[in-house]
Amino acid sequence: MTALDTPVTGRAPGAGRSAPGERGPASERVARSPASARSSAAAGEGTLRLEGVTRRFGGPGCLPALHDLTMTVQSGEFIALLGPSGCGKSTALNCIAGLIPLSGGAIWMNDERLDVLPPEQRGFGMVFQNYALFPHMTVKKNVQFGLMMRGIAAAERQRRTERALALVQLEGHEDKLPGQLSGGQQQRVAIARAIVIEPRLVLMDEPLSNLDAKLRLEMRAEIRRVHRELGRTTIYVTHDQDEALSMADRIVVLQQGTMQQIGTPEEVYAQPANLHVARFMGFRNTIELDLESQAGGDVTLRGPWGPLRGTAKQALTGPRAVAAIRPDEITLGEAGATNAIAAEVDGVEYYGRDCLLELVAAGGVRLYARTTGRVARGQAVHAVIPPERVLVYPAMSS
Ligand code: ATP
Repeated sequence: MTALDTPVTGRAPGAGRSAPGERGPASERVARSPASARSSAAAGEGTLRLEGVTRRFGGPGCLPALHDLTMTVQSGEFIALLGPSGCGKSTALNCIAGLIPLSGGAIWMNDERLDVLPPEQRGFGMVFQNYALFPHMTVKKNVQFGLMMRGIAAAERQRRTERALALVQLEGHEDKLPGQLSGGQQQRVAIARAIVIEPRLVLMDEPLSNLDAKLRLEMRAEIRRVHRELGRTTIYVTHDQDEALSMADRIVVLQQGTMQQIGTPEEVYAQPANLHVARFMGFRNTIELDLESQAGGDVTLRGPWGPLRGTAKQALTGPRAVAAIRPDEITLGEAGATNAIAAEVDGVEYYGRDCLLELVAAGGVRLYARTTGRVARGQAVHAVIPPERVLVYPAMSS
């Protein structure tokens, strides 16, 4: 599915617009016939390479929405682009799809330069947040549309459409209109429509955001299953950490248009490369303290309650450093244990399976901790954190 196969949607990606003063791709255009692009697309798999991909929406002085994104995606990989709202995820996806031109850099599939091709010649399938189905067409016609645009013969269209609908488990719904389907079913149609053209790359922009929590969980598993069965390289945009962690082979964390980390879900979750990633990956406690001593990776910070031992995740140079701790790494324990911080319980939020505690330690330092135990507001406790789970980063001010 290319941009040309989808109806115009509310989430206009700014297709074809160039920023004033940007270095458009025209000067770098390599003449390639549509036929050569199609034959390459038909070949299917390939290594996708982004080299310094940059996109600005304002003049040259303006901060780019996407800055110098360089990465290699292996054939068949499932990559999640993850980050907070406005970090440049959709911009990156739309640059790959060709819906917006680059201000700098290049995109390659094996040895073929892609960023100089219009979207319809890049051979990508795309799934949007709002499904972007043609409301007046049946499910079958929506799915077949891209094949018709490509002049695929009727018998082949039928075969591929049946297969795509079976893959997303929509047999029996062929003759319905999108308005007669649930949100989850509509998104399945959108996925079928994207994969029916047998794209070399599947691009998904927050495809589950419009679904309720239960359906989101089901569709996560569904998208993973389709990916496993088809083996197509997939780039998936989301702001939901759980979605990225549970679905992706590798996660790219973006912040203010810049890649902060690329790694497996385990790496990004347990070993955030910097404080931005740590904050985004659920290290809700970030406490800036004086750096007392450092021996290799072992660090001691000076807390108002006494020393806090931790593990350096980046070179620490300044007099200050930030300890990042996940609420679920804190247990309630005994005084005298390593990193036992005396605190008073200031708030208890009940979540069923556990509670989120708001603790206040010496110096007014607030800590969030998760516990399955019964704790009351006003109770005196000791928050205990293993030093290897206190990740220490340079203070932003250092
Ligand atoms: P979200 O999760 O909210 O969709 P995102 O991470 O996908 O956010 P982008 O849509 O890529 O973020 O936007 C990145 C930055 O570029 C934002 O600051 C946004 O305002 C800006 N931007 C995006 N599209 C345009 C446009 N067409 N014109 C001007 N600025 C834009």
